[in-house]
Amino acid sequence: MQFKPVVALVGRPNVGKSTLFNRLTRSRNALVADYSGLTRDRHYGEGRVGAYPFLVIDTGGFEPVVKSGILKEMARQTEQAIAESDVVIFLVDARAGVNAHDHEIATMLRRAGPKIILAVNKAEGMNKVQATADFHELGLGEPVPISSAHGDGVADLIENALASLVNPVVESSEETPMTEMDEDALEQALTTEEGEEVSQELFTDHRIKLAIVGRPNVGKSTLINTLIGEQRVIAFDMPGTTRDAIEIEFEQGDKKYTIIDTAGLRKRGKVFESIEKFSVIKTLQAIEACNVVVLVLDAQSEISEQDAHIAGFILESGRALVVAINKWDGLDQDKRDWIIREFERKMRFLSFAKIHYISALKGQGVKALLKSVNEAHAAAFRKLATPKLTRELRAAVEQQPPPRKGIFRPKMRYAHQGGQNPPLVIVHGNALDAINDSYKRYLESRFRKVFKLEGTPMRIEFKSST
Ligand code: GDP
Ligand code: GDP
Repeated sequence: MQFKPVVALVGRPNVGKSTLFNRLTRSRNALVADYSGLTRDRHYGEGRVGAYPFLVIDTGGFEPVVKSGILKEMARQTEQAIAESDVVIFLVDARAGVNAHDHEIATMLRRAGPKIILAVNKAEGMNKVQATADFHELGLGEPVPISSAHGDGVADLIENALASLVNPVVESSEETPMTEMDEDALEQALTTEEGEEVSQELFTDHRIKLAIVGRPNVGKSTLINTLIGEQRVIAFDMPGTTRDAIEIEFEQGDKKYTIIDTAGLRKRGKVFESIEKFSVIKTLQAIEACNVVVLVLDAQSEISEQDAHIAGFILESGRALVVAINKWDGLDQDKRDWIIREFERKMRFLSFAKIHYISALKGQGVKALLKSVNEAHAAAFRKLATPKLTRELRAAVEQQPPPRKGIFRPKMRYAHQGGQNPPLVIVHGNALDAINDSYKRYLESRFRKVFKLEGTPMRIEFKSST
């Protein structure tokens, strides 16, 4: 298995990095609730432009507040991101011309040595020569004029950036086609017995792909060793290229698992050890590549900004999630109560996930954790039958109709499943633009309950026919 290639956006403030980032990622369909407590991290995302999947990092997000010299502004994380990415898009501003900071960044990039593409942004309405002439002096090859705001040149830029990198990995589509139903088909569907269809889970792959993520020292390698300790480790894939994921395969009961490594684990004697420092990019790649994430937190220290950031990526990715609060051993009751409250306060937006209090070191709570992983995986891939969805929708509306908006009264006719992992429910009807977030949350909680969707995020989309 291969990780998706990583494209880093680099450049001084105001050149248009976040504008380009937004265009490349066309931010995912917002997950249902507006998660209070989550500072949305808009600096990592899945690329949605061109033929191949990739990850994008806007290094502007790493800039610390101190404004003393552009190089100082670039935090260690920027350098790490540059070192770990496959290609850097270095953005400059056609309207502002070359600037001393651009030169400093160019020098730094040349030293770091990744593949660099120099993109001259804000070039809309300019001809190529006019836009790029100044920038040849940066010595980074032919500058490419683009307009992040208008989209000019952006698709070509990405094709170019990825050209030598990607093997054409054909992704299996998780979306099932959207179909309009006429009244007859709908009535027929509603009278069908869903019985078996509902309990059946549509696994395309029975192997559960697991990413165990968390900041350094929370106990990830200890947990991995405990998980595979008593089991038979089937295989341990060493990477060929930097984009190859390291995979550890094991079985328990009748389930097969693949752990996708985030920490650069190496096998030392009988156990795995983490030999690399924490890598934001590896973490992100593993989250993208897995279908269930275990987020490991350390009960013996506070929940930090970094924990919240990682949680943010997980949420953004739409992956199923189980939270492991580790190092639960040796804590007195007061400390335990405190960390439970801390988690509830800071990570409210992860309420769809099950929480386990474990000791990876002593093996306590690990079996139960794995059981929740299985359940979360099943929930993420659950088949939601149209009749049952529609009946639940109608029951929900009957109990609490959606509020009017002006003269519009939303009318919801039926619902069907539009995708898995995470489950997507598409509600069809009229004037559905008028449905507000709180009503959406209400529907979500009804669907979650009736389909037992614990452990997975879910999305609801509305399609109005008028
Ligand atoms: P960042 O600090 O590098 O992330 O830059 P932003 O994406 O926040 O953009 C800085 C400013 O440049 C904003 O006012 C954007 O609207 C503007 N901008 C970004 N891309 C373009 C572009 O392609 N053309 C023009 N004319 N303005 C742009
Ligand atoms: P990683 O960086 O997330 O892979 O963390 P490690 O697995 O290397 O663990 C970091 C440190 O925490 C090591 O000293 C572990 O022995 C310790 N540790 C891990 N799990 C537990 C636990 O459940 N309880 C206690 N008390 N210590 C633990």
